[in-house]
Amino acid sequence: MLRSTTPSAAHVPHLLFALVLIFCCATTATADFSFVRNTGVAPGPTLLITAGIDGDEPGGFHAAATLITRYQITTGQLWIVPDLHPQAILKRERGEMNLKFAHIEHTDPLYDSVARIKTMVLDQQIDLLVNLHDGSGFYHPERINRQRNPGSWGQSVVIDQQTLPGIRFGNLEQLATVIITDISPFVLSSDEHFQIKNMDTATLDPDAPTLKSLSWFALRHGKPALTLEASKAHPVAVRTYYHLLALEALMKQVGISFSRDFELTPQAVARVIREDAQMTLAQGRIHLDLNQMHRNLYNFPLPADPQINTSGTNPLISLQPEDNGYRIHYGNNRLALLHPRRVQISADIEAIPVMIDGIHHQVTPGTILPVNSHVRIEPLPGYQFTLAGNNGSWPKLATRIDGDKVSVDRSGRLLRLEIYRDHMFSGMILLDFRNADEEVIEEEES
Ligand SMILES: [Zn+2]
Repeated sequence: MLRSTTPSAAHVPHLLFALVLIFCCATTATADFSFVRNTGVAPGPTLLITAGIDGDEPGGFHAAATLITRYQITTGQLWIVPDLHPQAILKRERGEMNLKFAHIEHTDPLYDSVARIKTMVLDQQIDLLVNLHDGSGFYHPERINRQRNPGSWGQSVVIDQQTLPGIRFGNLEQLATVIITDISPFVLSSDEHFQIKNMDTATLDPDAPTLKSLSWFALRHGKPALTLEASKAHPVAVRTYYHLLALEALMKQVGISFSRDFELTPQAVARVIREDAQMTLAQGRIHLDLNQMHRNLYNFPLPADPQINTSGTNPLISLQPEDNGYRIHYGNNRLALLHPRRVQISADIEAIPVMIDGIHHQVTPGTILPVNSHVRIEPLPGYQFTLAGNNGSWPKLATRIDGDKVSVDRSGRLLRLEIYRDHMFSGMILLDFRNADEEVIEEEES
């Protein structure tokens, strides 16, 4: 099932650019991988970027997801597959997908996914395949120590051979050299410089795993391929930073131009990963911030078939059936378990009148509402409001003690205000006291 969506206005302010997002089932079905095209208005080369072929390498798949949520391509295009092996990502395990490109049984559960990515690699629009991996240690052509030696993979650009003669972008070693030179001023410490790791795959023993890889499949079929390896020695955000550095150097080199809405530093990348942890449910009537979540959200109103609204959503976020509820996943992170209370949706209310810190507002269901001291909900004929876990002090409220056990977040400051009409669910507003003034809160409590 393919669905066309439009990008989130929050992350993509300039809609002049033709950015076509095609998400494949970023909801409860994860048998197949996501695929998003990020296309510039001006024609240019097309890169196919894959990540998540190994499910325990989050630097690669957060980098690919960031290209979807935070980059605008102006010239050329990216075809982005951030989660090539979704089941392995959910289980936080490596998986064996990258051993299945020389031969795969028809009965293999990965058969369809392998066939689909092969078709994409061979598409005549694709000029170059780039695989993102997180690798062990630090590759070095000579043995320095246990971390830094020819058997390690981290901080390398891997190629299968020097060139693929006669093919555009077949100058693999040169592409890798320019990437490494370009990014060297931005490497965080002198022992983290990237190296070229040339596998000389054609000369390997016939049983070598490299001969079964996606990258070698591409080369055998006349498609240039590079693999970027960020070291697993780094935190995830730093790995993601290195992937984006190297990808940007490659894009510049092949003539793909772009902009992004953040500064490329490890700190800003960490912030982007946090900010992208957002999920919208129930036809947009619930919006959850997925940071610092409680492990369990009880009595949570959900329709029988909760769908994540895919528009503008990070493709690494999904909702998976677990026990009698749903587990929220973000890449390798297992977040809250939603214990559902089944509801029918009533979608006829656009906004409710709310007094926030003494000022009137009209608030749309599905909003996270910053509050400093207190909230008062104005009466609205036909509608009922409940604050999860609250029994008293309504409608004036401002406490984290009340919210502690029922809050969406662990600080007890992100409270669920639920709106009903005749037992039908009209939406949820999260009252966000996380940045509230401590003194004001204590005064309101007394
Ligand atoms: Zn890998």
